[in-house]
Amino acid sequence: MTLSKSQYIRGLQCHKSLWLYKNNKELRDTPNSQIESNFNTGFDVGELAKELFPNGVEIAFDSSNFNGMIEKTKELITNGTEVIYEASFKEDGIFVMADILVKNENSWDIYEVKASTHTKEYHINDTSIQWYALSKAINLNRAYVVHINNKYVRDGELNIKELFTIDDITDIVLEKQESIEPQLLEMQEMLKDDIPNIDIGKHCSDPHGCDFSSHCWQHIPKNNSVFDISYAMGKQWKLYYDDILSIDDVPDDFRLGKNARMQIKHHKSQEIKIDKPKIKEFLETIEYPINFFDFETFQNAIPRFNNQRPYSQMPFQYSLHILHEDGTLEHKEFLGDENSDPRRPLSEQMLKDITATGSIIAYNQSFEITQIKNLALVYSDVSDELLALNERFIDLAYPFQYKHYYHPKFNGKYSIKIVLPTLFPDDDELDYKKLGSIQNGGDAMDTFANLYLLKDKSKLVDIKKDLLAYCRLDTLAMVRILKKLYQIISEVGIGK
Ligand code: SF4
Repeated sequence: MTLSKSQYIRGLQCHKSLWLYKNNKELRDTPNSQIESNFNTGFDVGELAKELFPNGVEIAFDSSNFNGMIEKTKELITNGTEVIYEASFKEDGIFVMADILVKNENSWDIYEVKASTHTKEYHINDTSIQWYALSKAINLNRAYVVHINNKYVRDGELNIKELFTIDDITDIVLEKQESIEPQLLEMQEMLKDDIPNIDIGKHCSDPHGCDFSSHCWQHIPKNNSVFDISYAMGKQWKLYYDDILSIDDVPDDFRLGKNARMQIKHHKSQEIKIDKPKIKEFLETIEYPINFFDFETFQNAIPRFNNQRPYSQMPFQYSLHILHEDGTLEHKEFLGDENSDPRRPLSEQMLKDITATGSIIAYNQSFEITQIKNLALVYSDVSDELLALNERFIDLAYPFQYKHYYHPKFNGKYSIKIVLPTLFPDDDELDYKKLGSIQNGGDAMDTFANLYLLKDKSKLVDIKKDLLAYCRLDTLAMVRILKKLYQIISEVGIGK
């Protein structure tokens, strides 16, 4: 039975995953591709890396004719081609495609291209199985991983040589060769048999989240399982192996950290914890006018703009609610142009919109503070004004993070997406699920990063409306949570 490189990698992670893939593929979880389908493919890291070795010949992918791809590769090797992209081989029952194959006198170098910022263990496994198959057909010299250099800062035209880092992993790939043949034999034997009896475990998410999780994890309760214990530091596996699946069944004397114990205690008692003096102390630090502020950011593997690094967070949008002492609530917002660098207009608008005095409230303030620091580094002419904003931040997550207010429904967590629906369970205005196509930060990030590639421009207005509605809800949520805290300690003096 032929195995592809990705099937071998799947088998390395879990034999059962490989068996299910070969025999019951329909049990896989369905990926959410709704957002991606709106866009053309962006700059592809793999395509760009080919420019490091220009003038190569590409083997076109043809899922109906792998033999044709293999024959074409042989032909190119025989006729003296120096650089081949996607060179395809089937040796010893393994089908592999090498990203870039480069002639080096009488042998070849393998370059495996990865969009990550460093070489990972599974990249070495990927390259090792390629080496295993290719070494049976051609002489090999060195093996390399080509990955993104996240220290690179774009300045004018893309500098491909600086954008990528090339790691020589030949020695470790050679060390791995010995183990590959027995692993392959084991996989081949396993596949001849019935489904292997493998329980769930840490391997289900290491190195990749397995796409058979819904199938294999069916016996775990959907809510309040031991895997919902926050900060359990791996101890949930001990509970699981002792046949304890639900938080309700965790013994009182089971050793866990303070946060996890508190979560279990409040889950069992269903008691809400309110530390009024601490909440009051927190609220007393806040000054009017109160600026509720939230950024959205996007990332590009390949920088599009000057002064942009690969994968750096690029703020493109903010929402700002301002609550005045008389109870008036104002809303201001910014959404960048998808075709140009949004950071400068965003910085200028933000400096105008945020009031000159008063507190700036964010939920998990370190994110907003870091973005402002980064903007200050790029725009030195306004850096003092930008950095002055950071002095005024107050973190609304604080009373929830430090359990001054704790609700059993928080499940040990304190993110705004958990706190908000718990405090306001029946408020449609605060329900993220009632929003349009953008319902979380990940949606916003992916959507804006690709917005300039939108195929159907008639969708642009609606998408921008959805982005604005999402970010606006993030700051409105903070307004309502803060008011709730005031209400809890029965302070008057803040309008609804
Ligand atoms: S979910 Fe876990 S046990 Fe099931 S196939 Fe995947 S890795 Fe294996």
